Amino acid sequence: MGQLLDGKKLANFRADLLQKQVLNLKKLKIQPLFCVINIGQDPSSLIYLKTKKRRADQTGIEQKLFQLPVTVSQKELLELIDKLNHDKNVNGIMIQLPVPKQIILNEALAAIAPEKDVDCLTPANIGRLWQGDHFVEPATAHGILALLDHYHISLRGKNAVIIGRSSIVGKPLAALMLERDATVSILHLKTKNLAEYTKRADILVSATGHPKLVKANMIKKNAVIVDVGISRVNGNIVGDVDFDHVAPIASFITPVPGGIGPLTVESLMEQVVQLTRRNNGKQ
Ligand code: NAD
Repeated sequence: MGQLLDGKKLANFRADLLQKQVLNLKKLKIQPLFCVINIGQDPSSLIYLKTKKRRADQTGIEQKLFQLPVTVSQKELLELIDKLNHDKNVNGIMIQLPVPKQIILNEALAAIAPEKDVDCLTPANIGRLWQGDHFVEPATAHGILALLDHYHISLRGKNAVIIGRSSIVGKPLAALMLERDATVSILHLKTKNLAEYTKRADILVSATGHPKLVKANMIKKNAVIVDVGISRVNGNIVGDVDFDHVAPIASFITPVPGGIGPLTVESLMEQVVQLTRRNNGKQ
């Protein structure tokens, strides 16, 4: 049975450290302020927003929610982003996804000032990520690397295989893993034979939202398995990996829940503090 990569425990440990950093900033009269723009009432978004707010409160970060109606226009959204960009008390801005159809998401993301882009989704910050010279990291990718580091799992010279090519998980994670000297493959819905690649993985990350996609016969012995997927099956939260059959073959494996989820929220808070420090000339 592979060792569990306990994301929840690590997230709690990192939260304590972050809380101390925030206290130190407050002593210098610097208050991290993070603004979330939510459009409409998507049920999953409302759950994520609650989790973020709770974590921000625990950490001492101020989180302001800008709740916009589902009918909001692109112009109104851009005006709000512009206002937040120019507010010197605001250190982080994010748009909660998904957004309604009338919103041109890439244009809205590009309007966020890169120095306040906590999700690392502006073109400038994505470019910096691939240049290997960045000041913010996307939360999920940051959390995955923090977890691997914590368990002393090195990426250098390893075959890292990522299933899923989204802008928030697969693509940025590939950039960061390349920076750590891994040989990276990104697989996706149109990849012809997933197992051909996954069997070569020393480190396999799955981020698809497809339950039990990763089966025991798709991995090699002693692989490290990171399950990012979150799906609801019969009222239970499950990942992408067929945990019961894969865990005995893996050397390390994340549980779902309790793996990457808590680290993603924690990492987001870390990015807010990181940007606050940077915006106030503290690093
Ligand atoms: P997305 O829908 O934007 O992307 C999914 C990706 O998976 C796509 O690139 C698609 O090509 C690929 N894919 C889907 N089915 C596949 C299949 N059968 N074979 C190969 N590739 C397949 O989703 P996302 O926003 O990247 O999120 C992916 C999953 O990760 C979801 O379950 C989401 O809830 C979860 N997620 C979890 C966290 C966390 O903190 N644990 C954070 C972000 C996303």
